[in-house]
Amino acid sequence: MHSLTLLIMRKNLAILGSTGSIGTQALEVVDAHPHLFNVTVLSGHSNSALLTEQALKFQPEAVVVTDTAAYEKVKNNLGHTAIRVMEGQEALCEAVQWDTVDFVLAAIVGFAGLHSTLAAVRAGKQVGVANKETLVVAGALITEAAGKHNSMLVPVDSEHSALFQCLTGENYGDIEKIILTASGGPFLGKKTNFLINVKKSHALQHPNWNMGAKITIDSATLMNKGLEMIEAKWLFGLDNDQIEVIIHPQSIIHSLVQFKDGSMKAQMGLPDMKLPIQYAMGYPARLSNDFKRFSFKDYAKLTFEQPDAKTFRNLQLATDAMYKGGNMPCIMNAANEEVVNAFLNNRVGFLEMTDIIEKTMEKVSFTEQPGLEELEATNTEARKVALQFLKQSPLYS
Ligand code: NDP
Ligand code: MG
Repeated sequence: MHSLTLLIMRKNLAILGSTGSIGTQALEVVDAHPHLFNVTVLSGHSNSALLTEQALKFQPEAVVVTDTAAYEKVKNNLGHTAIRVMEGQEALCEAVQWDTVDFVLAAIVGFAGLHSTLAAVRAGKQVGVANKETLVVAGALITEAAGKHNSMLVPVDSEHSALFQCLTGENYGDIEKIILTASGGPFLGKKTNFLINVKKSHALQHPNWNMGAKITIDSATLMNKGLEMIEAKWLFGLDNDQIEVIIHPQSIIHSLVQFKDGSMKAQMGLPDMKLPIQYAMGYPARLSNDFKRFSFKDYAKLTFEQPDAKTFRNLQLATDAMYKGGNMPCIMNAANEEVVNAFLNNRVGFLEMTDIIEKTMEKVSFTEQPGLEELEATNTEARKVALQFLKQSPLYS
């Protein structure tokens, strides 16, 4: 009887972006709970070696590869197995809809994850949302589709997982405000004269979290927190003025909700992404694990301070984009993806990134209620505009 219950509860997963930081940690969670999770679909972009290794270990029904050269390699590597190897975005959108998939972990980075996330939502799947950029770009479309197709969005981002956990058993209408915590990143307390000389190697050193390259740069510029404000707005149906940010350098309190009676709830724990990943995958169950536990003995104090949006102007730009709405968050996100990519290739300065995002937001045409096609057009146009500005940087060659 006991084993039958477990068998019925076993969730079939599609892990999109399985070769990334979130994806690999999700597979560690699967590894620790093989009786609860079964991997049906894995997807990667360029890392053919890791994707092959994961496929051989987890034996999914299919593997989807979005980069053509990597696809050829994976296809060749898995030719002797029964695993289906599929190529491209459309294959990704098809696989997430299969009846053999219960839960889709959206862990592709950036706008590239939009279509597959939307396909999973439209198929009524439970979707673990790590890919915050899709909610920033198309939060209105995604949440509307989730309501229509009875798809449940479960946050994976640690702050949003914290809010989601605080809100369990609560009425969302009773929220007065939410407070997102931010570590402040590696340059907390620094001013413009320091930031102007910052290089990629400094920016990639995050004090508390070990993450993919793009989000690590976003954390250093505070764009990450800006994206997370917009992500929270859509996940929890909030008004713009209900969303606040506080700097908490120790990253122990992962976020807070204040209710209409003034009572506040916070969720805390050591900074380890496997916890929110496991919570999302296991939801509504809370699964046991052997992760390191927080102890007050290790933390003499937990501190809080106001963010410095005058120095870290990306936070202000994201706030402006959130208030403006329409396709503005999409414009901002596209420009940000371009400049971060250039920064990771040493082709633009740290502070220049913000200037280019701002100029792109001023230049690209605004639409109040964009549909999917308009968002795609905005994304393409904003990237082009940002690239033109990037080419004027002395570092760009
Ligand atoms: P990584 O860069 O580590 O991984 C990104 C994944 O997406 C990889 O599997 C990569 O494949 C794949 N990918 C890249 N480009 C494309 C593309 N064009 N089409 C399809 N797949 C693609 O990122 P993270 O794991 O750090 O982040 C993933 C998402 O989760 C981001 O949106 C991030 O903001 C969010 N997140 C991450 C956290 C973290 O701790 N890392 C915390 C909270 C949120 P390959 O490597 O094979 O090229
Ligand atoms: Mg986060």
